[in-house]
Amino acid sequence: MKYVIVTGGVLSGLGKGITTASLGKLLQARGLRVTAIKIDPYLNIDAGTMNPFEHGEIFVTEDGGEIDLDMGHYERFLDINLTKEHNITTGQVYYEVISKERKGEYLGRTVQIIPHVVDEIKRRIRQVALKSGADVCLIEIGGTVGDMESMPFLEAVRQLRLEEGPTNTVFVHVTLVPTVGPVGEQKTKPTQHSVKELRELGISPDVIVCRSEKPLTEDVKRKISLFCNVWENEVINALDVGDIYELPILLEHENFSTIVLQKLGLRSRDTELSDWVTVLARMHHANKPVKIGMIGKYIRFTDTYLSIHEALRHAAGKNEGKLEVKWIDAEKLEKSTSRTLAELEECDGIVVPGGFGPRGAEGKIIAIEWARKNKVPFLGLCFGFQLAVVEFARNVLGFDGANSTEINPYTPFPVVDLLPEQKTLTHLGGSMRLGASEIIIEKGTKAFEIYGRERISERHRHRYEVNPEYIEKLTAGGLVFSGKATDGRRMEILEIPDHPFFVATQFHPEFKSRPNRPSPVFDAFLRASLQVHPH
Ligand code: GLN
Repeated sequence: MKYVIVTGGVLSGLGKGITTASLGKLLQARGLRVTAIKIDPYLNIDAGTMNPFEHGEIFVTEDGGEIDLDMGHYERFLDINLTKEHNITTGQVYYEVISKERKGEYLGRTVQIIPHVVDEIKRRIRQVALKSGADVCLIEIGGTVGDMESMPFLEAVRQLRLEEGPTNTVFVHVTLVPTVGPVGEQKTKPTQHSVKELRELGISPDVIVCRSEKPLTEDVKRKISLFCNVWENEVINALDVGDIYELPILLEHENFSTIVLQKLGLRSRDTELSDWVTVLARMHHANKPVKIGMIGKYIRFTDTYLSIHEALRHAAGKNEGKLEVKWIDAEKLEKSTSRTLAELEECDGIVVPGGFGPRGAEGKIIAIEWARKNKVPFLGLCFGFQLAVVEFARNVLGFDGANSTEINPYTPFPVVDLLPEQKTLTHLGGSMRLGASEIIIEKGTKAFEIYGRERISERHRHRYEVNPEYIEKLTAGGLVFSGKATDGRRMEILEIPDHPFFVATQFHPEFKSRPNRPSPVFDAFLRASLQVHPH
């Protein structure tokens, strides 16, 4: 097993995740099998209970892991499915060590960070890497070098190098080269300092990836080489890119994969990136304008809806749509006396994404009503699916005050209610209905047209569902449940036949969308939105 360990310096948010994913893409393009591990040095067991407003979207894996959004980048760039074991957090590691201690497995010994915690980290890394059957395992260490939180992880990878040997491990350090001053001088000092910090921990980077606004000058590369003890060609420039999918191509021009492969003593074929380039070119050359309204409550921080945004881009690329996403604040819509907004009316398609709690819910319902009545293509995802049921119950069936019990526990018409297994739950962490499960699609429906199959599998993350007691009434009123869980009891897809595109899913199709293989639902939604104004 070969390991590539990616650390970050200077500051967070430099795109370490995208850099890791891009390197993975390049190694794949050379015929290698690649897997990836994301290390998050926080005490949470997983990201499931974290606020998406602060941390960005919670990505859901096939096996129901609730993980940092970088995992989504890995899956999209590498076109592989990862499991929750590919995310290692401080919380998991300590939980394991402390549980073992309570069971008496360390009997007689003092349990310490070194060796016990660090050994547990290495054990997890090796187990995941070996199980994956990959040739190369990328390990991204979250946070910035120097943070107290990441120390045990850095110590673990230092030991990993010692144990696995220098030809089986490569250290990549991602830093920033800022441009400052009136003449726009590029500064290497932050990089020097951060490498120094890494060295104090016993790790010398083999490759330094420098994020910069403008191309690094030869002089700057020379300086970093000299002070940071790497060759000049081992200073890789990650220039700011307009589109994250361009980064692998950019890094390939810097010979990133060649250098990494040399260090790992691996021989491989030449880079074969033409499929990626084709997909990217299609996205960039698309010229049919299409405006999609995203009705959210976290619209100032669009990372909250990252996978949905990416899925829209993938679908737009395939359909030659020049995508413009309009972020519409659900609360603003709620307050609007005319029950609409100019920005809503100008959209060719409307997405109501997943969400939790009452804030903004009424605004989302207004948007759904608008889309239904005005025959604007609509896609509801999870919470969006549930609110579409609420809207239908209120405005078509006349069930005044119908609601989800998540929003109003005392509603006279609880059309959306807790899943039965959720009713007795006491722990909030990792306890939703999570991960992939099968859905049976009814023939002759829009959903069947979209998927072209009777059985599909998609990922879930929810506690509530359509209340089984209302299914008959909703169906009698014209709402079609075209996809159901295999037990036939749980509603998974809804549609309204007399509408160009009114589809919502209890699951999250966005997590399985890939640049080269857009999610079928997003693909169909985008096609419908493009038809609003024939080009
Ligand atoms: N809040 C809803 C539920 O728990 C929807 C969740 C979501 O959109 N992911 O069922």
